[in-house]
Amino acid sequence: MSVWQAKVATLFPEMFPGVLGQSLAGRALENGIWSLDVKDIRDHATDRHRTVDDNPFGGGAGMVMRPDIVDAALLELRASAPQLPLIYLSPRGKVLNQKRCRELAMGPGAILLCGRYEGIDQRVLDAHQAEEVSIGDYILMGGELPAMVLIESCIRLIEGTVNTTASVDEESFETGLLEYPHYTRPANWNGRDVPEILLSGHHAKVQAWRHAQAEEITRERRPDLWDAYVANGHIKEG
Ligand code: SAM
Repeated sequence: MSVWQAKVATLFPEMFPGVLGQSLAGRALENGIWSLDVKDIRDHATDRHRTVDDNPFGGGAGMVMRPDIVDAALLELRASAPQLPLIYLSPRGKVLNQKRCRELAMGPGAILLCGRYEGIDQRVLDAHQAEEVSIGDYILMGGELPAMVLIESCIRLIEGTVNTTASVDEESFETGLLEYPHYTRPANWNGRDVPEILLSGHHAKVQAWRHAQAEEITRERRPDLWDAYVANGHIKEG
């Protein structure tokens, strides 16, 4: 089995592996299911002060990461793994979803470029044809957390990271629906009972109940997902 490679270009290499070194992700890293190579962009600075940013042409607030410095970091990483797609974590990117995570998880890995300040000079992004990926419609201070989100959501899909493939396959988004609610012992907690059907031992009825719950929750909470589900012919409305 080949190792899924995460290669990260960042100004804060000490942030990694961070949460990715813990729990299932950390164990999978130790077990060689995925690998992590983190490069400090600042190592490519050329002046005494190790400067990586400058004022934006045209004026305005904040600083911009210089194209020559980012380019040198990317060239080094790409030379070490030319087959990996290059992703720039950016609020302007296409929002990450489970489908893209699966595609990436099935591939050899990814080079992840983390921005800071106002972002990165556009020319180096164009020159490297970086795919821009966002983790949602809000602004963080840097691309490191988004890179970790992307890595974790990909590696948990790789066999050997999470124990059962069933638990991954049935989750929200995998079926086009949000997941049904979960219950465990005690059967009565603070006067609240577990739905009786779950205690029946009748597998087919439990499955049907869970499916109906998943449909109801999706219809209520995510009309966008529900419309796509209906459009895909899963259900006839009315
Ligand atoms: N000026 C940028 C804008 O308005 O689009 C925001 C820059 S942000 C302060 C600095 C860096 O954080 C970005 O270059 C990007 O790498 C990362 N970042 C912030 N929010 C993100 C998000 N929602 N998804 C992915 N990356 C994000």
